[in-house]
Amino acid sequence: MTLIKYRNLCTSAKNHHESVLHVLERKRTKLFHHLKKWLELAIMDYAMIEEDDRVLVGVSGGADSLSLLDLLNSPMVFVPHFSVIAVNIDMGFDLSYSDYNVLETYLKEHDYTYVMEKSDIGPLSHSAYNRKNPCYLCSRLRRKRIFQIAEENNCNKIAFAHHKDDIIETLIINLFYGREICTIMPKQEIFQESMHIIRPFSYIEEKLIKKYAIECAFPTIENKCATSKTSKRMYIKTLLRELEKDNKDIRENIYKALRHVKVDYLPQNMRYMK
Ligand code: SF4
Repeated sequence: MTLIKYRNLCTSAKNHHESVLHVLERKRTKLFHHLKKWLELAIMDYAMIEEDDRVLVGVSGGADSLSLLDLLNSPMVFVPHFSVIAVNIDMGFDLSYSDYNVLETYLKEHDYTYVMEKSDIGPLSHSAYNRKNPCYLCSRLRRKRIFQIAEENNCNKIAFAHHKDDIIETLIINLFYGREICTIMPKQEIFQESMHIIRPFSYIEEKLIKKYAIECAFPTIENKCATSKTSKRMYIKTLLRELEKDNKDIRENIYKALRHVKVDYLPQNMRYMK
């Protein structure tokens, strides 16, 4: 079952100007400036955004994605002009759609251009034939639909709210369960470079983003998926938290190790490894 809502695809210049002024008034906190600085640095370092890009922002309604949407919608110092469209795929866990309605009200009130879609991806990923790995199918289906919406709306960039801690945790997940040393990239090309996934929060810690979401009183939506409490990511998060008790630098060390890969000291072509 799919229901799509499109709204506000041509915001008037006046409304936009007023909303930018409102944003400026509201956000001149120390944390806002800190996040903006590191967000813009990541965007510039990886050339994530170019003049007149149309950026689809994946908005789950959690603290991370609402913060990303908010910060991308605030005036930039160094990043060239671009436009933003917020996209939410409701996973179908809550058939009362109360969270869906809260999110839509927020997007309307803040004059965002948005696409919201109701789907049954959540229940489908947990159905009898796919109980073993719901996250795999769930992420695939959601991502596929996001790519289609990006294409339908002429977006050339897709921004996700993955942050520094996601990069660290994904590295460990891939190492522990995927037999690979790799993680998510700040900028990644897809469809022969006609589109890019960008992650402007790549330099920013999760705890600061959560703090910002509280500071701004965003109407954050809790993930209603039962698997989210028992996922591999949650396990790795808990594990790192435990390890941090003995070594508070552990996350930073893992993150920085990504810049110090000594390929010559990684065994290659060993028969056992194939
Ligand atoms: S935790 Fe739930 S919502 Fe998240 S990817 Fe897995 S199945 Fe989907």
